[in-house]
Amino acid sequence: MGLHEVTLRPGFWQRRQHTSRTASFDHIEHWLERAGWLGNFGATVEGRRGREFSDSEVYKYLEALAWAGDPAYEDRFHAIVARVAAVQQPDGYLNTNFGRPGQAARYSDLEWGHELYCYGHLIQAGVARARTHGHDDLVTVAVRAADHVCDTFGPDGIGSVCGHAEIEPALVELYRVTGNRRYLDQARLFVERRGRQVLDDIEFGRAYFQDDMPIREARVLRGHAVRAVYLASGAVDVAVETGDTELLEAVARQWRATVARRTYLTGGIGSRHQDEAFGDDFVLPPDRAYQETCAGVGSIMLAWRLLLAEGNPRYADLIERVLFNVIATSPSDDGTRFFYTNTLHQRVPGIEPAADTLVPRAASSLRAPWYAVSCCMTNLARTFSSLAAYLATTDDDGGVQLHQYTPASIRVGDIGLDIDTEYPADGRVTIRVVSAPETAWTLTLRIPHWATEATLDGVPVAPGLAAVRRRFTAGDTLVLDLAVRPRLTFPDARIDAVRGNAAVERGPVVYCLESLDLPPGLTVDTVRLDPAAEPVDRDGAVIVTGHIHPGHDTSWPYGPPPAPSLADSVEIPLHPYHRWARRGPSTMRVWLPTT
Ligand SMILES: [Zn+2]
Repeated sequence: MGLHEVTLRPGFWQRRQHTSRTASFDHIEHWLERAGWLGNFGATVEGRRGREFSDSEVYKYLEALAWAGDPAYEDRFHAIVARVAAVQQPDGYLNTNFGRPGQAARYSDLEWGHELYCYGHLIQAGVARARTHGHDDLVTVAVRAADHVCDTFGPDGIGSVCGHAEIEPALVELYRVTGNRRYLDQARLFVERRGRQVLDDIEFGRAYFQDDMPIREARVLRGHAVRAVYLASGAVDVAVETGDTELLEAVARQWRATVARRTYLTGGIGSRHQDEAFGDDFVLPPDRAYQETCAGVGSIMLAWRLLLAEGNPRYADLIERVLFNVIATSPSDDGTRFFYTNTLHQRVPGIEPAADTLVPRAASSLRAPWYAVSCCMTNLARTFSSLAAYLATTDDDGGVQLHQYTPASIRVGDIGLDIDTEYPADGRVTIRVVSAPETAWTLTLRIPHWATEATLDGVPVAPGLAAVRRRFTAGDTLVLDLAVRPRLTFPDARIDAVRGNAAVERGPVVYCLESLDLPPGLTVDTVRLDPAAEPVDRDGAVIVTGHIHPGHDTSWPYGPPPAPSLADSVEIPLHPYHRWARRGPSTMRVWLPTT
């Protein structure tokens, strides 16, 4: 559905979207100017600032503005587009970091140069504008850049790919909005070329940019997490538009293996700090969880494409998990600070960065106002701006499928639905039919896999899909009740880093313990959870039963088995992981050792 067909209404996600569309937009533009990423358009070679990919932050911000479509930002949008357009070369080339006297030559560093990656974000911004507004200046710039890419990297051109996938999904999206088959063919060429060692080997190995093996042969997502999910997204786009079922199944197979073996409880991905990459199977250490916010965004991009292609509710389950536990975690309540990485175990209280600080490290211990690599903030902004589009779909039979539950209005064709819910705090979802055609149609609801108890209008429904086919009339109401209550979750024994631990989930939300909720002087590492005691809701927190084991420093932290605990039981309050570090510095852990 288009963004004109689905509107968020006040609730969990509308609050966050509103903050993004106001405070975060202003914050981002302020920092794009201040850090120099915007000033690079029009700057001298000597005056250029930032990393090789900084142009892309401007494009992602433009995409966020385009999806939001807020008239209040229209002048600013045009002013930025004018600065970008002024730098585009006559042949369509556009990058502030290459190609001018005194700079490296165009496409002389495909491994790290990010030129095609930047075009990808420029083109996605153009597509967002075309879909929400129509053809205007930004779309013209994007089309010229895309034509330049096809001219330069076509069958007779440079026979290589970009070190960071992103141009692939962008070109297919541009094909969809323009109908120009050339962009689809170029995207397919990029997808097929990669994996044949077309890029130079690098310190992290070619798997880092997925140039180690053809995508059709890969078993699992690997290498740099954001690169991996962006490439897979583009491959699904190519597969769907060309009817390539083999390619589609190759990506779906990798997605299933990645979810089964390389994904954190939160839905986040990436456990290697060194190269922001996937670890091997089951390498998911909580205190080294990298879980880049952008990898969460990319994971949603991929799962969304697979959902559209196959309709399997498992894809929407993962989107929900990432939304509530990665996307909702990163931004501060006021929309001006962000997590780049998302650890699941904070061993020492962090230090709040000053409001005017550009933090050089991705692994900031607390949310920071801006990073030297500023990818996550603009990625979040474009995701929040387009969030409504992920809630529901329609199909060729005129049916509507609801994938995510949050207050919203849907108006698609003759069908109008209003959705009300306190989800995820409460599991009741009320769907009111506002308008409906004279004929029967099917309303399909996703029943999350965690919802082992659920009813639709009082009738039990199993996890998966629940479909209702009938002739609806205005005023009809359906009530979905998902049993949202806290539960203990245990890891596969092969995830060694958390073996013997348990976590608490409530509906789609992962919980955590912060030291702020413990008696003074205790750290989260002193807590042992009693796995036989049921967690319970109380005053907005989840209460678990456990024991306190103050650690004793020894000269050697290994030895014979510890004596059984005789400590008294205590009640320990947990809060949603996405709320962590909002009350100030603390230690935190999601996985708690069991007694
Ligand atoms: Zn990022």
